Amino acid sequence: MKLILLGPPGAGKGTQAKMLTDEFAIPQISTGDILRAAVNDGTPLGVKAKSFMDAGGLVPDEVVIGIVAERLQQDDCGNGFILDGFPRTVAQADALQANLQQMGKDLDSVVALQVDSEALVERLTGRRTCKACGRGYHVSFDPSTKAGLCDDCGGELFQRDDDREETIRKRLDVYDEQTAPLISYYRDGGMLVELDGMLPIADVQETLLTALRAN
Ligand code: AMP
Repeated sequence: MKLILLGPPGAGKGTQAKMLTDEFAIPQISTGDILRAAVNDGTPLGVKAKSFMDAGGLVPDEVVIGIVAERLQQDDCGNGFILDGFPRTVAQADALQANLQQMGKDLDSVVALQVDSEALVERLTGRRTCKACGRGYHVSFDPSTKAGLCDDCGGELFQRDDDREETIRKRLDVYDEQTAPLISYYRDGGMLVELDGMLPIADVQETLLTALRAN
């Protein structure tokens, strides 16, 4: 299964991707996670990416295209992969197509999760993540039992720097301008599945699995 999960920040791509990794035994490739790890580790990539991420903008195409091209070569992608947060521009989508073609591979599906922008802001401002294990929470919709601590491992919960309201608005504008055009890009390519991302997580999961199995 070679899949792209498309949708604005907060649409639930990461949540659904994690579920799909278990279901299909394929890796989730989240460019956001890769970049955040690089920022935390202070690598040259992280230093380069940080200012773009803090401002809610996109990291330059050539940087992320290189990261994904390298990641797709790894052994665990042999049976497929879930791209989460990539591509985000038409240039990235073109580069991905060229890259897959070179590898003799093709995408199976592109799933777009649709969510209203006010719901996105609410989801993102309340989003918290465990520092230790990465589990996600929401302060209102899915709080941890003990405030600020992970139910699974007791790790400290944190709010992403770019999940503050001002940066969120900027990220949503960037999505509308640069990423939303990919909906028609893939629709024209005949591989787009559009799903209602406003539904509860379990219902999105069910419709997603049904759509992928029918593909
Ligand atoms: P995410 O975790 O997917 O919301 O990504 C967090 C931030 O990482 C984004 O706001 C961008 O600054 C950067 N980023 C992640 N993926 C990409 C991408 N495909 N192209 C450019 N920037 C990206």
